[in-house]
Amino acid sequence: MSDCIFCKIVAGELPSKKVYEDDEVLAFHDIQPASPIHVLIIPKKHIASLADAKAEDWPLLGRIQAAAAQIARELEVEESGYRVITNVGANAGQIVHHIHYHLMAGARLSPLGV
Ligand code: 5GP
Ligand code: ZN
Repeated sequence: MSDCIFCKIVAGELPSKKVYEDDEVLAFHDIQPASPIHVLIIPKKHIASLADAKAEDWPLLGRIQAAAAQIARELEVEESGYRVITNVGANAGQIVHHIHYHLMAGARLSPLGV
């Protein structure tokens, strides 16, 4: 996707502060952190959102969850706790249409809701 900012980050055409990378997954610090630790975890493959994931993508999305747990361990927030969420569509506030999981930690997070 030539106009996707996260594809550009994957391609190295835009900078990012990387915290994790393997052959299929990339994680980097959010440019506008909403918590003391706010990392975005994405597949290198362009998938617009969870709603667009196909059955063939489930192993990849499983790898993202495994990466989230590993990153949380490496950033030493496993014990204090963390949150992993993905926004889908307008009501959830999705602004980047390349699926990404927010890993948030480092403070007591507010309850989910409206
Ligand atoms: P969404 O609302 O789509 O779930 O979240 C998109 C996230 O991407 C936001 O938290 C926003 O701050 C972050 N973001 C948007 N553009 C960039 C960028 O160019 N670099 C980084 N590192 N984060 C970005
Ligand atoms: Zn993309």
